Amino acid sequence: MDEAQTPQFFLFKDTIARYALSGISDQQADQEEGSELDEFVSYLASEAWPTVPTAAQDATYDTRDKVPEIDQIALESTSFAFIDSLISYGIIEDADDAYKLFRRILDDYREQACAPPPVWSSTRTTECEICAREVPLTYHHLIPRAVHAKVLKQAWHPESMINSVAWLCRPCHTMVHKVASTEKLAREFYTVELLLGREDIQKWQKYAAKQRHGVRHR
Ligand SMILES: [Zn+2]
Ligand SMILES: [Zn+2]
Repeated sequence: MDEAQTPQFFLFKDTIARYALSGISDQQADQEEGSELDEFVSYLASEAWPTVPTAAQDATYDTRDKVPEIDQIALESTSFAFIDSLISYGIIEDADDAYKLFRRILDDYREQACAPPPVWSSTRTTECEICAREVPLTYHHLIPRAVHAKVLKQAWHPESMINSVAWLCRPCHTMVHKVASTEKLAREFYTVELLLGREDIQKWQKYAAKQRHGVRHR
């Protein structure tokens, strides 16, 4: 599987992990402590990766125009083991669901692979505030900008808090936006501590903290 060890492959794997974590039952997630979940997700990712067209496997911000439309990608050759594992873990019901889920995963993957590189800033922390990995960070507006006007009008938060940010790696940042709408983030999950109080974020944190790819070694 060495040929698959590209940054894009790890992005793809993290995307699968997010979907697997939200689909997996709590009981299974508890049984799948840490490394077992990691193994399961690695297996799913390496089974599914060959189906991803080369232009999508190599997707970056600079090559984003060459990446095919996700609904144009033929999924007929998808590994049966990939589909079967998703079904036996109760993440999906049948093969039709598998293709739908696969396209959602590919959509998410493409969006992240083609995103502009993170903005570097002198005020950033060096470690992601969720997974503690030392990787390039993005800033997350704890009170998303899209709802600032509403937040002030409804006085949900004092104006002094409105620009608070958390420094998150891209996979953790994507996870945060997957678990709640911007309004819910603004009202209920407006600090890193509140986010970390959520069970789904805790499960994700356990998984993400174990991923060593892209981590700077000092
Ligand atoms: Zn992170
Ligand atoms: Zn954000």
